[in-house]
Amino acid sequence: MRLVILGGGESGVGTAILGKKKGYDVFVSDFGKIKGNYKEVLIINEIAWEEEKHTEDLILNADVVMKSPGIPDKSPIVKKLLGKGIPVLSEIEFAAPFTDATIIGITGSNGKTTTTMLTHHLLKSAGLNVGLGGNIGKSFAWQVADNKYDSYVLELSSFQLDGIVNFKPHIAIITNISPDHLDRYDYKYENYIDSKFRITMNQTEEDYLIYDADDEAIAEWFKTHTTKAKLIPFSLTKTFSEGAYIKNNKMEISINQEEFTMDTEHIALEGKHNMKNAMAATSVAKLMQIRKSTIRESLSNFQGVEHRLEKVLKIQNVQYINDSKATNVNATFFALDSMNTPTVWIVGGVDKGNDYNELMSLVREKVKAIICLGVDNKKIIDVFGNVVDMMIEVDNMNDAVRMAQRLSEKGDTVLLSPACASFDLFENYEDRGNQFKQAVKNL
Ligand code: ADP
Repeated sequence: MRLVILGGGESGVGTAILGKKKGYDVFVSDFGKIKGNYKEVLIINEIAWEEEKHTEDLILNADVVMKSPGIPDKSPIVKKLLGKGIPVLSEIEFAAPFTDATIIGITGSNGKTTTTMLTHHLLKSAGLNVGLGGNIGKSFAWQVADNKYDSYVLELSSFQLDGIVNFKPHIAIITNISPDHLDRYDYKYENYIDSKFRITMNQTEEDYLIYDADDEAIAEWFKTHTTKAKLIPFSLTKTFSEGAYIKNNKMEISINQEEFTMDTEHIALEGKHNMKNAMAATSVAKLMQIRKSTIRESLSNFQGVEHRLEKVLKIQNVQYINDSKATNVNATFFALDSMNTPTVWIVGGVDKGNDYNELMSLVREKVKAIICLGVDNKKIIDVFGNVVDMMIEVDNMNDAVRMAQRLSEKGDTVLLSPACASFDLFENYEDRGNQFKQAVKNL
């Protein structure tokens, strides 16, 4: 069997290793350059590869193709493969049949990484032999080749889910859905929503779907679709006989006639959105039969993930917070919502079609000054120019942080939550967040 892999990154090389181990004739083709360390792995493992081209003679003879999630279906080589009826799969589809581990799959527009890391932390702290993968860290396929985990917590993007046929998580989570990546979905929001819901399409009555019952797009989908999985909703406003909710500052979870209660003040993560993430992750822990005392301890010591509402330093009683991962309006909405002091807000970058009006009431209520950190800030200035007292434009992080210090007073918060992608001024969101933290430390 010939396995051709398009894309020589983490998921591509992981799939190559697994395919080779399982006896496939493997070929990796990348239209760009393959990074040095991955190239070494391919060479050591005697896997054939090419870079900066796609040689059709070596690709169109595949029995099966694994395409890395970054490559769109519209790319010419994928079109040709599909035209010839050759199956084009994602990494999780290819790898899943080679393991009988319990799979927990987590998707959504925001909160995937946080929920995935927290779920993994809950299960691992309880002593389970559990792997962490998908969009985070080492690829799932690579781990299936090298490790023997009993379960996996996988962060799944919509692109990974687009390439599944039979893949089925035992427990699925949809954290929430808001418009994102629409360029890959013919600018149709419903296509993107359907793509997220593919996570449940192969689930059976034995499986579970945990989802945000406050989310409009999810509620809409359920009006016209069904799933066989058992449903476990979570909500900040409603209560359920079977599900998770917050009532009187307590997180209450009721699953399979078992109850779990915890004061939200003892949960280390902060903000309403993180209460949602905590409800989702704790529901998994309950389904996996983790003891209550272990769950409580893990929820009280999980400090969150870098670049997501990360507290950096308090300087002259001003709290600096790095939320560089907020690359869309919905993420920034929850960041502003969780502010409980006057806030100097650093915002801007590459906007993927943002509607800033969704933030209007929070900005009126909480933001005293806006620092625009982008190449093109016109939209932000147009929307908020008359709403805040102070608004300035800068073009680098040091100036942004120095201006923020100047505009803030004791008791305020300085929040970097850009609502935009970062590649106009930075390499990526990590670079942006790291530059912010360094600039704060230099103050
Ligand atoms: P993802 O992996 O889906 O991008 P992250 O956990 O990395 O999600 O969080 C991305 C951004 O979204 C961060 O700014 C974070 O503070 C915010 N966020 C986290 N969880 C949620 C949620 N449940 N709803 C909305 N925003 C969230």
